[in-house]
Amino acid sequence: MDALRNVLTRLQQEGAALGHFNVADLVLLKAVLAAAVEVGVPVIVGASEGERDFFGTYELAALVKVMREEYGVPVFLNADHTHSRAKAEEAARARFDSVVIDFSALPFDKNVSSTKETVEAIKAINPAIIAEGEIGNIGTGSEIHETVNNEFRNLSTPEEARQFVDATGIDVLAPAVGNMHGMLESMVEGKSKKHLNIERIAEIKKAAGVFLTLHGGSGTEDEDFVRAVAAGINIIHINTELRVAWRQSLESSLTRQPREVVPYKILPPVLDSVKQVVSSRLKLFNAQPTSDKVRLAG
Ligand SMILES: [Zn+2]
Repeated sequence: MDALRNVLTRLQQEGAALGHFNVADLVLLKAVLAAAVEVGVPVIVGASEGERDFFGTYELAALVKVMREEYGVPVFLNADHTHSRAKAEEAARARFDSVVIDFSALPFDKNVSSTKETVEAIKAINPAIIAEGEIGNIGTGSEIHETVNNEFRNLSTPEEARQFVDATGIDVLAPAVGNMHGMLESMVEGKSKKHLNIERIAEIKKAAGVFLTLHGGSGTEDEDFVRAVAAGINIIHINTELRVAWRQSLESSLTRQPREVVPYKILPPVLDSVKQVVSSRLKLFNAQPTSDKVRLAG
């Protein structure tokens, strides 16, 4: 399998982005893999510290290794939002392909020093590992929120992006560009959408000169995704949309079969529902350039 860095480079040349989907259990993992096979594109499976604690860091790595061979599509594994050097090193030792080093809650200078130290630590374990760093505030928790925190209106600047990349040695930068973790109830109901600052993405891309990740993609307007990829986004994270599909389909499966106790009869509709969300996002992120897309990017 091609290295993650090469796949990111190739997708960037093609005007596509790599879809990143979080998993907390085997149903979600199977759904993401099945969608990648169906659409026929590479994918990144992600697990935050909480998801790794539940799944098992080494267990998840072992399953992905087996499934990557069995399913025959490029599948990468990312340690999402890692808040300590120890947890980052654990993921590197478990042979994750990338680590999101997240000290973004700290003041900028401390974010720089902690990120730099962690980048060096994980590259000492695996020189090929991809290190991502994060600046700005896009909130925490891929769940349903009641209100939007006003701090989300503070976008990352091209200057701080360049300074952060130069000082830390990261391979990928996650900026705040109008994105936000989690979804509002109105977004779950499809009544409102997130909007991205496309101009700022393009400015940050130019200044930072590295791959860019868009976190908190759930609930974003489709057209904004297409324009964000054209402006320089290389990886897009979707989590809450999968969690919403997981819960809604689990509830309806249980309601339809009130006496059923067999997991492999209850869970397939859940897998299928999550797979549909992942497939539709992968198709959007990997849409081949068309005149319509060029118009949107202009
Ligand atoms: Zn995130």
